Amino acid sequence: MSLSTKICSFCNRKIKTATGIMLVKNDGSIIYLCSAKCKKNMFKLKREPRKLKWTNKYVKGGIKLKSR
Ligand SMILES: [Zn+2]
Repeated sequence: MSLSTKICSFCNRKIKTATGIMLVKNDGSIIYLCSAKCKKNMFKLKREPRKLKWTNKYVKGGIKLKSR
């Protein structure tokens, strides 16, 4: 079988084999998280990964959000 590299759903970083967290959502889709840190930020803190410098989703200079 091939080794598939998983990408963390929160920080977009590669997850090393045998590490990380796999979660199945209510709709049946599977998400992978590299660490408890990412899990916490995604579900508990509900942070936006594009605003966090340690994620690969971070957008330099900030995100332009549409004003309501
Ligand atoms: Zn992560």
